[in-house]
Amino acid sequence: MIPAELSTHLSETLNLDIKKSQSVSGGSINRAAKISTNRGDLFLKWNSNAPDDFFEKEADGLKRLGSAGTALRIPNVISSGKPGNDRPGYLLMEFVEEGRSGDSYEFGRNLSKMHQTKANQFGLEVDNYIGSLPQSNRRYDDWIDFFTEERIKPQIKMAVDSGKLNSGIFQNWERLSAKLNEIFPSAKPSLLHGDLWGGNYLFNSDGKAVLIDPAVYYGHPEMDLAFTKMFGGFSGDFYEGYESESPLAPGFSERVPIYNLYPLLVHLNLFGGHYTSQFNSILRKF
Ligand code: ADP
Repeated sequence: MIPAELSTHLSETLNLDIKKSQSVSGGSINRAAKISTNRGDLFLKWNSNAPDDFFEKEADGLKRLGSAGTALRIPNVISSGKPGNDRPGYLLMEFVEEGRSGDSYEFGRNLSKMHQTKANQFGLEVDNYIGSLPQSNRRYDDWIDFFTEERIKPQIKMAVDSGKLNSGIFQNWERLSAKLNEIFPSAKPSLLHGDLWGGNYLFNSDGKAVLIDPAVYYGHPEMDLAFTKMFGGFSGDFYEGYESESPLAPGFSERVPIYNLYPLLVHLNLFGGHYTSQFNSILRKF
């Protein structure tokens, strides 16, 4: 089930001999497999319809998180490639053996440490993807400008252009955005995972948290934490661990729906749905 052209390519470029493969489900975008090879067990994901630089950008994000040098585990990337010559785009990395449970407190504490990796500006020197949607990371000195111009407005535009939201949403957004400087506490740009929902971390067999599938940039640290609340999957210990390193500014819970306008819009643009009234009710609340 691994495309023959991909197996051949991996054999030719990496001398990789795939002895066995087992399909891994759970991804929303790509196909994936655990492969047993002459270099041990590895994780391979691929997609024939991915943009050329899709897996290269995912590899880049994983490497950036790995370079932060925290105790969070990040799978080692072995190789990535663009689609071509009848071959899908692919990403080959270390296989993570999942454990039954893990230390959520340590996970939170280590995420907070990762957020202490700072930059001078919000954004990143490269653009990347969130899910399969392009994510522009043009850099700004100011968080609100970045959040508005690079996160919310492009997603609202995409949703309105494709008929998923009514254009009246722009006005409601403008009304809220005028108040953002009273809502967001100031913060220096932090290294973020960028797509931290419950499906994008694993606990390995040692109970340590492993981050996968990032959409990395430097942003407000609360953005990653709000994301964790989007679909659940993070225990109370996780937040306690986070706050043991860096306590949250008062009012975080009230700010969560604003940060999460971004993943909500991304979800709408990726998977569709009827969210106009939900958006308007969030926008009108502030
Ligand atoms: P997608 O990009 O399609 O969303 P994911 O990267 O989330 O795919 O991977 C799909 C599933 O594979 C995940 O839910 C996770 O359980 C598993 N997975 C991801 N990366 C690894 C890895 N390095 N080792 C083992 N399992 C992994």
